[in-house]
Amino acid sequence: MTSPSRVLVIGIDGVRLDVLREVSTPHLDAIAAAGFLAPVRIDDATPTWSGPCWATVATGVSAAKHGIMHNVFTGHRLAEHPDFLTLASLAGKRTYLSVGSWEPLATAACGGPLFAAPDRVTFTSYGLDCERGDEAATVDAERELLAADYDVAFVYLGDVDETGHELGVGAEYTAAVERADARVGRLLATVRARSSYAEERWTVIAVTDHGHVDGGGHGGDSDLERTAWIAASGPGIVAGVEMGTLRHVDVAAHVYEAIGLSEAMAGLALEGKPFASL
Ligand SMILES: [Zn+2]
Repeated sequence: MTSPSRVLVIGIDGVRLDVLREVSTPHLDAIAAAGFLAPVRIDDATPTWSGPCWATVATGVSAAKHGIMHNVFTGHRLAEHPDFLTLASLAGKRTYLSVGSWEPLATAACGGPLFAAPDRVTFTSYGLDCERGDEAATVDAERELLAADYDVAFVYLGDVDETGHELGVGAEYTAAVERADARVGRLLATVRARSSYAEERWTVIAVTDHGHVDGGGHGGDSDLERTAWIAASGPGIVAGVEMGTLRHVDVAAHVYEAIGLSEAMAGLALEGKPFASL
């Protein structure tokens, strides 16, 4: 019997790459040291809003295909281009979504949900109190990842972005990045604490959707807004590998590769490539 391959994707909204490189983030650094941290360039046809960027991460196709251009998803084409949790579930994998703040990822609010039909969803909304929402999402994910055998999980953290919008990119924003990193550390510790961890092959992907201007905010075309990043480690990813600039579409491609569904998804015309093949 081959050992089970599992994937944890942690989506951290609105973390600037230059700030990430400056701030003390030991847990994200550990993922990067075991694999890589690479910039993502958001293509010029994709507005630098959370909706289109997370939709590209989730579906593995660009905005022209999934049709999400803003944070209201109405008119989307997610039925033709489903998210990786839903497709993995349909292919027989067990999937999990944990969200504690931004509704349209998990609910019908604003034309959602982006993640249509994971096997299990934990969602508690605290509105714009994203710090509280992130804590709830982390606690839920700690419980679920320890007790259940999910093949693919996505955990969303929204407080960094909300802090940037409210207070700009300064000391409070930096502190929010550190809090997000601490939550990443708790999720990684949970995975390692699984009783079957020694027999499992885990891929961990941390990804942000877009940057922020110095005063806080995004949606424009500046390099600060168009630069995102991916950190990842796991089977097939060589520690310290130089990845160059990645694309958000590569995340879904790598998820499918990691859980052995690349061939099953070959008909989807996914636009990305698994990290190991880049
Ligand atoms: Zn965002």
